[in-house]
Amino acid sequence: MAVSESFEGKCTCGFVRYRMTSRPLFTNCCHCTWCQRETGASFALNAMIEANRVELLAGEPVVVDTPSNSGKGQRISRCPKCHVAVWSNYAGAGDKVRFVRVGTLLEPGRIPPDIHIFTSTKQPWVVLPPGTPAVPEYYDRKQYWPAESLARREAYMRKKP
Ligand SMILES: [Zn+2]
Ligand SMILES: [Zn+2]
Repeated sequence: MAVSESFEGKCTCGFVRYRMTSRPLFTNCCHCTWCQRETGASFALNAMIEANRVELLAGEPVVVDTPSNSGKGQRISRCPKCHVAVWSNYAGAGDKVRFVRVGTLLEPGRIPPDIHIFTSTKQPWVVLPPGTPAVPEYYDRKQYWPAESLARREAYMRKKP
C-alpha cells in the first residue's frame, strides 16, 4: 500500500484548500433524503478519515451546526466565502473523524464508494453497480470495513485528543 498517497481538495472559490494524507478509512455513498436535500442531488459521497490525516493548506472553514437524520446533528465545515461544504463531523465519532465530501477533491474519481447506504430512499433512476455492497439503511462497520481500516480506526480512537 502506498503510504505517500495523498488527495487534495478545495471549495469552489479556492479559499479553503486541504489535503488528505492517506486513503480514507471507508467511503459511504448515502442515498438518504437528508443527503439528497443537502446536496440538491441524488446522494452524498462521504470519505471517512481521521481528522489528523486532513491538513489544511489554505483558509479556515467555518463550522455550521446542521440537523441530521440521526437527530443528533452534524457539524458541517464550510468555506467562509463561498459556503461550499468540504467535510462534516457527526455525533458518533465527534470531531475525530471527518466525512470529507468526495466531490470537493481535485480527483474525486480516485475515491469510489465502498458501500451504498440508505438505498431504501434512493432515487429510482440511480442504478447501483453490482459488486459494491448496498444496504437499505445503515450498517455494522465490523461487517463491511476491511480489517485494516477497523484496526486503524480503533488505534486512532483510543488516542487522547
Ligand atoms: Zn470557497
Ligand atoms: Zn445521508
